[in-house]
Amino acid sequence: MRIHVKPGACQGNARCWSLAPDIFQLDEGGYVLPDDIDVPEGQEQLARRGVRACPERALQVKDEG
Ligand code: SF4
Repeated sequence: MRIHVKPGACQGNARCWSLAPDIFQLDEGGYVLPDDIDVPEGQEQLARRGVRACPERALQVKDEG
């Protein structure tokens, strides 16, 4: 499963990170890193919670693989 990070959409409130700090990594300013995220096997559910928690809809599940 991959998560797409929409460029410029993150507002840095770190809700994704607070749910799953191993999946959603932040830069020094508190913004999620801009590269797409490969979710480790077994962490898909946690990743989806992080995606849903983003109030800016900056995170998008790309495939269910
Ligand atoms: S929850 Fe959304 S806005 Fe907040 S840091 Fe994560 S991607 Fe950015």
